[in-house]
Amino acid sequence: MRLEKISIVLVGTTHPGNIGAAARAMHNMCFNRLVLVDPQCPVGEVAYARASGANSVLNERQTFGSLVQAIADCDCVIATSARRRSLAWPELNPGTMSEKLVEMGDSSRVALVFGREHSGLTNEELQLCNYMLSIPANPEFSSLNLASAIQIVCYEIYRRQAIRPEATVPDAQDLPATSAETEGYFAQLQQALESSGFLNPEQPGLIMQRLRRLYLRSELTRNEVNILRGILSAIEKRRD
Ligand code: SAH
Repeated sequence: MRLEKISIVLVGTTHPGNIGAAARAMHNMCFNRLVLVDPQCPVGEVAYARASGANSVLNERQTFGSLVQAIADCDCVIATSARRRSLAWPELNPGTMSEKLVEMGDSSRVALVFGREHSGLTNEELQLCNYMLSIPANPEFSSLNLASAIQIVCYEIYRRQAIRPEATVPDAQDLPATSAETEGYFAQLQQALESSGFLNPEQPGLIMQRLRRLYLRSELTRNEVNILRGILSAIEKRRD
């Protein structure tokens, strides 16, 4: 894992001061890829003032309309949330998260996704991610300020990578699939389940969410996604 391949993704941020404070927290820990998804405020004077000199992070930010687009080229996507969800997602804490990242090959592209100040991430956004990271906190008051949460996560990774052993280079066959590749498979799978009658589009229940969780948890490689898509294509072809 390399810090320059890790994006800090802020979804729907409403306060420019928080974007500036996020840039500062990142730059302190040597992170510089800031990605904004559908920001609800301008990145102007207030943001630059709060960045306290971390201007390069703000200047080089990227902006996307949706989370799907922002993480398309990432092969490990970690959502952060203070809240437990009704359909529990594979969970990490700061320690297990940084351990996981340090073990990854240097070509891995990672996204750490942070939610809106008032409402966090939606369940749909969470379900695009491989893991959910929650920072242990007072159970009665567990929601941290956005930039404070970013500071803790970035510090944890920075600290771990300073003492990491040599990274291993994965075999090309074993490169992790990107989010866009996995989403392509999910779309094909859903279509196959609907056309076979297994899934009723009028009443889909939680089946797709459970299947997403299963596949995202297993950190599919490119090769595995190709096999899964090939299986569906072969079955569809035979049926047609
Ligand atoms: N009221 C919101 C909290 C938003 S705090 C909610 O219920 O979800 C803004 C963002 O900071 C969160 O979306 C998350 O990305 C991050 N955050 C805050 N506290 C956190 C915690 N304890 N663990 C992990 N992320 C946290």
